[in-house]
Amino acid sequence: MKTLLAHRLDGVKPSPSMAAKTRVDALRAAGRSIVDFTIGEPDFLTPKHIMDSGVAALLSGQTRYTSPSGTLALRQAIVNKFRRENTLEFKPENIVVGNGAKHIIYNAFAATLNEGDEVVVPAPYWVSYPDMVALHGGKAVVVSSDASHGFKLTPEALESALSPRTKWLVLNTPNNPTGAVYTASELVALGAVLQRHPHVWLMTDEIYEHFVYGDVKHASLLQVVPELAERTLIINGVSKAYAMTGWRIGYGAGPTPLVQAIAMLLSQSTSCPNAMAQAAAVEALNGPQQCVADVVAIYGQRRDLIVELLRKVPGVDCVSPDGAFYVFPSVAGLMGRVTPGGGVLSSDVDVTRYFLEHASLAVIDGTSYGMPEHLRISFATSFELIEQGCNFLRDAVNDLS
Ligand code: PMP
Ligand code: GLU
Repeated sequence: MKTLLAHRLDGVKPSPSMAAKTRVDALRAAGRSIVDFTIGEPDFLTPKHIMDSGVAALLSGQTRYTSPSGTLALRQAIVNKFRRENTLEFKPENIVVGNGAKHIIYNAFAATLNEGDEVVVPAPYWVSYPDMVALHGGKAVVVSSDASHGFKLTPEALESALSPRTKWLVLNTPNNPTGAVYTASELVALGAVLQRHPHVWLMTDEIYEHFVYGDVKHASLLQVVPELAERTLIINGVSKAYAMTGWRIGYGAGPTPLVQAIAMLLSQSTSCPNAMAQAAAVEALNGPQQCVADVVAIYGQRRDLIVELLRKVPGVDCVSPDGAFYVFPSVAGLMGRVTPGGGVLSSDVDVTRYFLEHASLAVIDGTSYGMPEHLRISFATSFELIEQGCNFLRDAVNDLS
């Protein structure tokens, strides 16, 4: 097998969030009842009007290949979305649609990275960025920022991470896994650093843009520093806001030459995104938007509940996230504690394993997100399961000595 697989795969691992979900599915299939706080996926159904338009597209014969970069109708709907929600002006030729936002990120790296090119990835990061960079010969330059900096990249840390080999900065706001949301002024400060380094491109992943709570507002760096338009790729998609993870539609918006290069790779790999899913995405973006506001209000209540419950657990230190649908508590206070079976918890990975084995509760270790001694817990699940899972967690911690 070693001779079969490409060297490119050395050091690349399966997505930890997808692996965690697969593990839960396997345990459930084997008869175990598990409370699953792993995968970041809305538990709601896709709104009915969106499903209906997918079905109507199917029945009306939209069952053929489309343009590799997506139908004109969808790219136009995305242009309208950027104008309406982000006050950003694009043309359909600035837009490329893929099988999920992940697919666009992957192909953006494929289209741009040469061997040894560097990509600045602020940690905690979404699990897939460093591996996608490595897969394309790049080097992820990880810059960590802890809870004392709100888990956010500072302009100083960005400045010192840049080198002549830097090709991209990947910024993710609202952030997976911490829920951190960059303010407009923080983005202006990061943009000022980028303006001093004209060879660096910005990839801004805004897939959680609607998931902000209280008075917090989402801003795009491109909105506040429009001078970066010639070297910015915005990543977004319908998976999270419209509960459409399984439809697999995401998109990128950026300068036409980059967008065309990505579209070329799509034409040589997937040919085009799924035709009826594109029609459903048109309805998601052009149709009534109340469905988004309705679910975000519920996520806000879920956030409050999970933070309140986790804060009652000694040894678990939980910051209340401003956005996304994850909490990222520190479990440093559990290190060195002993399980009823006699095992010593010496890492977040041990804690994750202990919760799964002892409490039938599935969470993901912070190490996978570039920040040990933390856990990523998704609250994209019902109030009942949040309560149940947090009770399991509290009881498991109480069982430690
Ligand atoms: N970016 C981030 C930060 C994510 O959490 C996800 C979730 N899978 C994605 C991109 C990709 O989403 P999708 O491929 O479903 O559009
Ligand atoms: N983004 C989600 C998560 O972080 C979905 C899984 C994935 O693509 O990583 O759980």
